[in-house]
Amino acid sequence: MAGPVKTEAVVLRSMRYGEADRILHLYTPARGRVSAIAKGVRRARSRFGGRLEPFFRIQAELHEGRGELLTVTGAQTVDAHARLRGDAGAIDAAARACDAVGRLFETGEPHPGVFNLLCRQLGLLDEQAGAGVSPAAARAGSLSFRLKLMLAAGLAPQLGACASCGETEHLVGFSGAAGGVVCAACEAGSFPFGEEAHEFMAGALGRPLNEAPTAGDQALAQSERAIAATLEHHAHLRLMPASAAA
Ligand SMILES: [Zn+2]
Repeated sequence: MAGPVKTEAVVLRSMRYGEADRILHLYTPARGRVSAIAKGVRRARSRFGGRLEPFFRIQAELHEGRGELLTVTGAQTVDAHARLRGDAGAIDAAARACDAVGRLFETGEPHPGVFNLLCRQLGLLDEQAGAGVSPAAARAGSLSFRLKLMLAAGLAPQLGACASCGETEHLVGFSGAAGGVVCAACEAGSFPFGEEAHEFMAGALGRPLNEAPTAGDQALAQSERAIAATLEHHAHLRLMPASAAA
């Protein structure tokens, strides 16, 4: 598969390398997460300009050699998300979104739906930048995004019935090991999970990102714990907290 590769990509991470280079983590529709080196990008007159910063959506030209690391040979901006860059809260949320994608989908397996979801999330944060989003709304948005990533990864928590016995009434707890809500008879090893958290998670999974529900602090905390417990048990993964306020 050596040779030129043209692909859309979102820059997830950018790490300094050597004197003037950067190593990038890119998320692409057809090749999943790709690592690439951008040579000379930190020089003042780099031909890449500022287009290889995190959160940029680009049309990338890469060269694939024998190693795992591709080389960036060209980059055109599809969306710079310029408004997002002027809002500390939006930058923080975008960084958490990119981190979650990079860790949940770290291989070259293609997930075009995840690429589209990330682009929508960055677009949404860009639209909302400067509008003074409340910490609760920011956390709810971040959790909704995570739930949709889990759905794409086949890790969506079971919410319709007890994940241990199938009972549909008296769902009072959440168990990471069982991968979903559990009933009063199966609650050993679970933690309390209220109706509002249940509604929030079901709503977040069922609605588009721009119509993501919100909820009170306790319900959001329970939802975040449920998401973390599911990822830890079923993907052996610990993500950063969903928001700075959490
Ligand atoms: Zn049960």
